Amino acid sequence: MSITCHVCGGREFRFEPVLWDELVEAWGLSEDERAYVDRQQGECCQACGANLRSIALAGAIRSALGMEQWLNDGLGRRRWRKLRVLELNEAGTLSPLLQQMDGHVLGVYPEVDMQAMPYPDGTFDLVVHSDTLEHVPDPVQALRECRRVLGPAGVLCYTVPIIVGRMSRRRDGLPPSWHGQSGTVDEDWKVQTEYGADAWCQVMEAGFSSAGLSAVAWPAAVAITARP
Ligand SMILES: [Zn+2]
Repeated sequence: MSITCHVCGGREFRFEPVLWDELVEAWGLSEDERAYVDRQQGECCQACGANLRSIALAGAIRSALGMEQWLNDGLGRRRWRKLRVLELNEAGTLSPLLQQMDGHVLGVYPEVDMQAMPYPDGTFDLVVHSDTLEHVPDPVQALRECRRVLGPAGVLCYTVPIIVGRMSRRRDGLPPSWHGQSGTVDEDWKVQTEYGADAWCQVMEAGFSSAGLSAVAWPAAVAITARP
């Protein structure tokens, strides 16, 4: 299946695996699962550098906003640049694009804790985060906060690494596991939740009225879209 980059329209990709053996073992990934998580993080658009994870998120944002242009063109247009956007921790290669928007706010941990955000109700039109929620101790509370800071017509688009052939599990009581790079032992990168096929349930638990999945390459590149 050929993929088109939702960030820039590119069709050429390069691939470099990013997972390491200790993480694969702690996560309990099969060979197939390892291969698609590697693609999610390590298959990148030659033109703009976005990996499949960012491309899936860009696709979800385009779809949520009804944007015909590629994301790197559309976000700067008058129709969208005034959107009030909350980006929670830098959303990979999408961050510079989001930051050119007039109404952009970047909330970075630990100054901004997703579980108790310093923004009034209904502040934003769009909330974006990418591979952040799996590190939050209470992800449902974090999603509740995302909903609270969105206006009634707002939308949340995000990614988490999802292993689609199993259910989500907490790492409570399991040996600690870290994302980032091999050898990382930083509490900020500690994995709290390993997401599975039921990842969308937390969105509903948090009070959103809809949760949708979109895939650029199933199951390597999936994003979640939720509406209040
Ligand atoms: Zn691209």
